[in-house]
Amino acid sequence: MKEIFDVIISGAGPSGSILGYLLSESGYNVLILDKENFPRYKVCAGGIQIRAAKMIPFNIDSQIHNVITRIHFQRKSKDDFIGEYDQPLMYTIDRKNFDDYLVKKAVEAGCIVKTGERVKELTVERNEVIVFTEKGRYYGKIFAGSDGAGGFTIRKFNNFRKIRKIIGYEIEIPVLGYGKKYCADRKENADKKSNLALFDKDSVVIDFGGVKYGYLWLFPKNKRISAGMGGLPEKSREIKKYLSAFIKNTDFFIINEKEESQVHAHFIPVRSRNDFISSYRILATGDAAGFGDAFTGEGLYNAILGSHIAFSSVDKALKNSSFEFHDYNKKVSSEIIKNIEYSMIISKIFFSSQYFYYKLIKKNEKLFKSCCRILRGEKTYSDVVNKLKLIKI
Ligand SMILES: Cc1cc2nc3c(=O)[nH]c(=O)nc-3n(C[C@H](O)[C@H](O)[C@H](O)COP(=O)(O)OP(=O)(O)OC[C@H]3O[C@@H](n4cnc5c(N)ncnc54)[C@H](O)[C@@H]3O)c2cc1C
Repeated sequence: MKEIFDVIISGAGPSGSILGYLLSESGYNVLILDKENFPRYKVCAGGIQIRAAKMIPFNIDSQIHNVITRIHFQRKSKDDFIGEYDQPLMYTIDRKNFDDYLVKKAVEAGCIVKTGERVKELTVERNEVIVFTEKGRYYGKIFAGSDGAGGFTIRKFNNFRKIRKIIGYEIEIPVLGYGKKYCADRKENADKKSNLALFDKDSVVIDFGGVKYGYLWLFPKNKRISAGMGGLPEKSREIKKYLSAFIKNTDFFIINEKEESQVHAHFIPVRSRNDFISSYRILATGDAAGFGDAFTGEGLYNAILGSHIAFSSVDKALKNSSFEFHDYNKKVSSEIIKNIEYSMIISKIFFSSQYFYYKLIKKNEKLFKSCCRILRGEKTYSDVVNKLKLIKI
C-alpha cells in the first residue's frame, strides 16, 4: 500500500526544518526533501536576531559563535561611529553547521529527511498531493514549499523574473582578527608584540554609501569574518567592485593566508502583496514565500515566524480535514507581510537620503536604541515609522 505523509516539506533550511520539527513533535508523519546533501554551504552573513533565536523551539547555544552588542557604523569607510547596546542585539552562526543541526533536531523529533533529492514537480488531487523528485514520487495530504529563494515553489507558483529581489554577495574570510581601525578604541584588545588588533568578538561593521540601495557588512564568526554586500540586482557590478576593493584593505582585518575563500551570490526575495502564499493543500514559507526584509536583507526571523504560523494552520487543517489555508494567508498578512511592506517604506526613505539619516542615527541615540529594540523584537518597524510620523499604511 502506498504511504501517505501528513505533510511533505520541500527544503531543509531553517523554515523547512523548524516546521518539520514542530509537526513531528505533535505526532504528524512528515517527510522533508532537500536537493543538497547536508551539511551544505548556504550564502548568508549568519546574523540571527535575538527575536528569531527566541522562537527556535530547542536550545541552540552550541551553534552560537558571537554575541553582538556593538555596531561599528561607517560611510564609505569614513565618518565612523559606534553604537553600543547593553543587551545582545544578535548572535552569529555558521549556516553550514546551524542548518545541519536543525535537520538533526527534525530527525530526532521523528521527521523522515531525504537529502540529495530535488523536488521537480507537484500535482494536487482532491484527496492528496503527489510530489515528484529525481528519484521517485511521494504522496501527502499537504505540501509545504520551504525551498528558498530560487527553489521549486517560488518558480512554480510565481513569475520568477517578476519577483522583487535583493542580491547579496558574501565571502567568508579566514582571519586572525579585525584590523586596527575597528579596535582603535579598545587598546586592551591589541596584541602588543605584533601590534595587531585581536578579534573583536562582540562587534559587527556596517558600511553605508557604497551603493545607493544597499550596505556592506562584516560579521565575525569564530575565526572567520563574513564580508558581504547587498543591494538591487541591477547594481550587481557596482556591488561586486565595491566589495572586492573593500576586502583588500588591510586596515580592516588581518587575513589568515593559510586558508582559502571565495565570493558567493544569492537572491533574497522580498514579496509583493499578490505573490503566492497558499492554495488548496499547499503553502509556502520562508524565502520561498518571499519573506525577505527589504531594509536589512535578513530572512531568518520571518522564516522562523512563518514556520510557527504554518504549523498552527497545518495542525488545524489536518484536524478539521479542511485544506484551504485562508487562516494562514490572514495571519501571514498581519504578522509578516505588513512588516515587509514597512521594511520597503523604511528602505526607500533611508536609502533615498542615506547621508541625512546616517547623520540622524549618529546624533540621535534614541533612534539608534529604537533600531536595537527592533532587532531584539521589542518593537516593530511600524512602531518606529509611526513614531517618526513619517507615514502610515
Ligand atoms: C548574502 C546573504 C546574506 C544573508 N544574511 C542574512 C543574515 O545575516 N541574517 C538573516 O536573518 N538572513 C540573512 N539572509 C537571508 C537568509 O539566508 C534566508 O532568508 C534564509 O536562509 C531563509 O531560510 P529558508 O529555510 O526559507 O530557505 P533556505 O535557507 O534557502 O533553505 C532552502 C532549502 O531548500 C533546498 N532546495 C532548493 N530547491 C529545492 C528543490 N527543488 N527541492 C528540494 N530542496 C530544494 C535548498 O537546498 C535549501 O537547503 C542572507 C541572504 C543572503 C543571500
